[in-house]
Amino acid sequence: MEITAGSHVWVEDQELAWVDGVVTSVNGNEAEVETINGNQVTTKLSKLYPKDMEAPDTGVDDMTKLSYLHEPAVLHNLAIRYGIKEIYTYCGNILIAINPFQAISHLYDTKLMDSYKGAQLGDRSPHVFAITDVAYRAMNNEGKSNSILVSGESGAGKTETTKMIMRYLAYLGGHAAAEARTVERKVLESNPVLEAFGNAKTVRNNNSSRFGKFVEIQFDARGQISGAAIRTYLLEKSRVCQISEPERNYHCFYLLCAAPPKDAIFRIVAAILHLGNIAFALEGEDSSVLEDDKAKFHLQVAAELLMYGYILALETALCKRNMVTPEEVIKRSLDPLGAAISRDGLAKTIYARLFDWLVKKINVSIGQDPDSKCLIGVLDIYGFESFKTSSFEQFCINFTNEKLQQHFNQHVFKMEQSVYQEEEIDWSYIDFVDNQDVLDLIEKKPGGIISLLDETCMFPKSTHETFAQKLYQTFKDHKRFVKPKLARTEFTIVHYAGEVQYQCDQFLDKNKDYIVPEHQELLSTSKCSFIASLFPSLNAETPKSGKFSSIGSRFKLQLQQLMDILNSTEPHYIRCIKPNSDLRPEIFENVSVLQQLRSGGVLEAIRVKCEGYPTNRIFSEFLERFSILAPEVLKENVEENVACKSIMEKVGLSNYQIGKTKIFLRAGQMAELDGRKAKL
Ligand code: ATP
Ligand code: MG
Repeated sequence: MEITAGSHVWVEDQELAWVDGVVTSVNGNEAEVETINGNQVTTKLSKLYPKDMEAPDTGVDDMTKLSYLHEPAVLHNLAIRYGIKEIYTYCGNILIAINPFQAISHLYDTKLMDSYKGAQLGDRSPHVFAITDVAYRAMNNEGKSNSILVSGESGAGKTETTKMIMRYLAYLGGHAAAEARTVERKVLESNPVLEAFGNAKTVRNNNSSRFGKFVEIQFDARGQISGAAIRTYLLEKSRVCQISEPERNYHCFYLLCAAPPKDAIFRIVAAILHLGNIAFALEGEDSSVLEDDKAKFHLQVAAELLMYGYILALETALCKRNMVTPEEVIKRSLDPLGAAISRDGLAKTIYARLFDWLVKKINVSIGQDPDSKCLIGVLDIYGFESFKTSSFEQFCINFTNEKLQQHFNQHVFKMEQSVYQEEEIDWSYIDFVDNQDVLDLIEKKPGGIISLLDETCMFPKSTHETFAQKLYQTFKDHKRFVKPKLARTEFTIVHYAGEVQYQCDQFLDKNKDYIVPEHQELLSTSKCSFIASLFPSLNAETPKSGKFSSIGSRFKLQLQQLMDILNSTEPHYIRCIKPNSDLRPEIFENVSVLQQLRSGGVLEAIRVKCEGYPTNRIFSEFLERFSILAPEVLKENVEENVACKSIMEKVGLSNYQIGKTKIFLRAGQMAELDGRKAKL
């Protein structure tokens, strides 16, 4: 559209990302704009986007209905909807959910559930129930498994959304109320347990999930829930011992202090608390002893809780380490720092085993259906993370997101094609960005970062510095890898969602899934059979304790298995957005929302759309809006599609497509038509 004085446009703004205004003058390829917040801005014409003056005040419930599909329009549409408490908006068949940070009345009522049952997507206002209903129906009608992938940054509302999906699935595929301990009830009841042990208060979210979760709900031939399985990914173990104010440890520790039940699980939780209070002091030159009577008391209680024969064994396991020489085994003393690391290692290992046990137990209790016809998988997984110091955890999390992004891109591309195919129009030239190069950088075997990390871990003399050097050398020409200036132990990956700088410091330690043999021995002989069972004595099948096994490689394998499942399902995407970092209602921060739309692939989906035909209109709608440009065509009594063509020809636009029921416009053509109309 030609931009002239008087045109309503969107212009870039540092604080608001985009702000609207009116062009006051045009000079060559530059324009002067007066913005609504009272600024005069001079900018290139190519950086301005037209504002749709006919857009409804309450926004549109699907971005693809926007007449001008571009970044500022998308952002503005979400902002006005959020302002009127419409937290859900579609972008095609992707659901965008913006965290309201307040209860919205009747949003999840049973009555509302009734109204979504069996409704076509788009018939009712956008909702997580609508997406779930589509998945359920597709599964029943086509006999194919479906999955719902929920993503977003910490605090964006993934877990709450996931719970709503599960509630709605239980509503659709549940059993008669008389059956008390139904599968669906057990699935729903597993949430609080998992949250107690896997969630914690962080600066980003008061109830942050510190693990990834994939729940597989199995259905029988009648579409009733017949079983379920929960898989978890990468629990943040370090939180057991390391928390920085004002964050907290896992909820279960506080639950225990508030109301101590005393069974085996809570024995362990209590023991970990006491372990944390054992302090060490230096003895002699480089040995350690318990610091004082307080430390002795906590050691005693921890030992009792873990039910060892005697206290001394625990003290020795913490303060000493066996050195194996060809001739003999020598007990070497650890210094206080070494003893503290040993203590934390023990606590983390016990907690991680307890968490895995809980998940297993829940799975057994819910029960799997071996004859299940199909399933609906629900994924609640950590979104892209970039912190001041990003470490191994962020590396794994962002790797996950690269994988899911590739899956998402392929899906969006396919969906876009299917719309064109349905209307039988030409679509062959659309291109999409593939992030295979980042994935290769990370996971290629051999030669990728994970492989190099494993090699480094197996080589006894390596340090995080030698690891960094190896990376710099290997990837010096890789366009997704950057060595920051002056860096010695940092590296940057150019992810699809932005650059992230990683700190190598703890990569080696964190990659080693290592249990100290002395700890293993001690716990496997615990008199508490439950604890002993968490640490079965070693046999040929389990990896030898003390021997290196790679967390990175195992995670990669787990992720590949997840992708295999997802690839065998029909996916549905929900992108959760956190509107502000204060966790408060009614505040919508443009810049951060835009960044999340980018990380979640929503902008990429829109880009793919824009490369093709971002706007389409049913013939009659198109004629209603634009027949004024060629009033004679209406008199001619021709078919609607012919009338549409005539209008486009008269205006001099080409490259559009006429489908079976709709006209498909290229980016900018709608604005061009509006511009012509305004000039009449
Ligand atoms: P993390 O990655 O840290 O686990 P998350 O994306 O899972 O974060 P949630 O725990 O689901 O985030 O949501 C954070 C908080 O936001 C919730 O505890 C709740 O207070 C609020 N919230 C999220 N979704 C909704 C909703 N639909 N309605 C009302 N409040 C919500
Ligand atoms: Mg969560």
